[in-house]
Amino acid sequence: MEYDYDLFVIGAGSGGVRASRIASQFGARVAVAEEYRVGGTCVIRGCVPKKLLVYASHFSEDFETARGYGWDVGESKFDWKTLIARKDTEIDRLNGLYIQTLDGAGVEIINGRATVEGPHSVRVGDKVYTAKTILIAVGGWPTMPDVPGIEHAISSNEALHLEDLPDHVVVVGGGYIAVEFAGIFNGMGAKVTQLYRGEQILRGFDDEIRNHLADEMRKKDIDLRTELNITAIEKTDDGLSLTLTDGTTMKADAVMYATGRKPKVDGLGLETAGVELNKNGAVKVDAYGKTNVDSIYAVGDVTDRVQLTPVAIKEGHAFALTVFGDTPTSPEHDAIPTAVFSQPPIGTVGVSEEQAREKYDEIEVFTSDFRPMKHTLGGSDERAFTKLIVDKATDKVVGAHMIGLDASEIIQGIGIAVKAELTKKQFDQTVAVHPSSAEEFVLMRNSRS
Ligand code: NDP
Repeated sequence: MEYDYDLFVIGAGSGGVRASRIASQFGARVAVAEEYRVGGTCVIRGCVPKKLLVYASHFSEDFETARGYGWDVGESKFDWKTLIARKDTEIDRLNGLYIQTLDGAGVEIINGRATVEGPHSVRVGDKVYTAKTILIAVGGWPTMPDVPGIEHAISSNEALHLEDLPDHVVVVGGGYIAVEFAGIFNGMGAKVTQLYRGEQILRGFDDEIRNHLADEMRKKDIDLRTELNITAIEKTDDGLSLTLTDGTTMKADAVMYATGRKPKVDGLGLETAGVELNKNGAVKVDAYGKTNVDSIYAVGDVTDRVQLTPVAIKEGHAFALTVFGDTPTSPEHDAIPTAVFSQPPIGTVGVSEEQAREKYDEIEVFTSDFRPMKHTLGGSDERAFTKLIVDKATDKVVGAHMIGLDASEIIQGIGIAVKAELTKKQFDQTVAVHPSSAEEFVLMRNSRS
């Protein structure tokens, strides 16, 4: 049978764009459908605008630091509307570049919401397209619990487009997005309360890193409260009134939920083609991204393996190599370096100490807690912390973690070393870059087991 396309991609986010472009380079006739804006979550309402806001929010501290270095910075004031407008201009520019990239690669962009109608057919509006292969790359969407008054709350999507900076923001959740936005709003001068239902934020991260971040956030006047949640939200004349699980109430101007993201499969028509989902509602795929239907693949957040843009990109690339490049490639999901753009930021790769104790017979743990040099004259009492976890049997570094100035930049290089399974001895043989915070990674000598 002659199909309209060799590949029809649903979703022009990180995974979908990479898969489309590479498949097209291999000579495939490719179309990609996008219901909102080309670029997807990361570029349009995730990593990129979030990081611009993180930069913006840091200046309040930077001005203080500057004084310690002899600068008179005068009076400073922050204008939220200016920032949001400038951020939107940058997102428009990136959106344009993504469209250009797809155009340049000969990929046809179809604007509209696509639904699957069968193993080889997709509908967009009143048109039905056929394709030899369909790739589901629709990503995820914020989830919010079913709390009375939840319609008055916002997610990170709306936080990026607020008309004004709220005076008091309550952030709910203890994951990546919650800690990042708590830092953003706080740095810009809002009063921030963060509510987390568990004992400590960032579940799954190394415990010492979690504790260190919680301490530093509190030092920066973020009112971080654990084992607490909202049971009801009510709109009042002067904002919102929140009822909490401990029976108390709290006033707020905005409530932002960052309580996880779920695969965006609702109404996608996957059931019509018989595509199986797992119990979290994510599309079930094999090591190559193939679903239980031979002609349908999926990559990125919709498969809910590791919800990170660079992982989606790798999965999209591996899919294109496998299906159109004659090179079966399964993306690796181990030793993924990642950064949390909290304040201070976190960089991490490999296992936490807690995971290492489960996985290995004997481990050695090296840590260093120090004051970054910039803060000596700058006056900040923010501390940094680095940690290496070593499998004693092989001397391999199986986990590296850092919280503190520049951690998000430093961890990329350390990620190469951990991915390459280098030993602690090889770390020690590496000459330090001095003076830097990164040098701690090759200087830590005292261990505990
Ligand atoms: P996460 O899954 O990381 O965190 C969700 C948080 O919400 C957890 O603390 C969870 O608590 C809490 N939670 C879940 N349900 C409820 C509820 N009903 N009431 C109260 N709290 C609840 O999700 P995020 O939304 O922060 O981020 C989604 C994903 O996006 C991340 O997993 C990450 O992979 C990715 N991301 C990556 C970034 C980066 O690379 N820097 C930045 C932003 C996002 P509990 O721990 O108890 O389950």
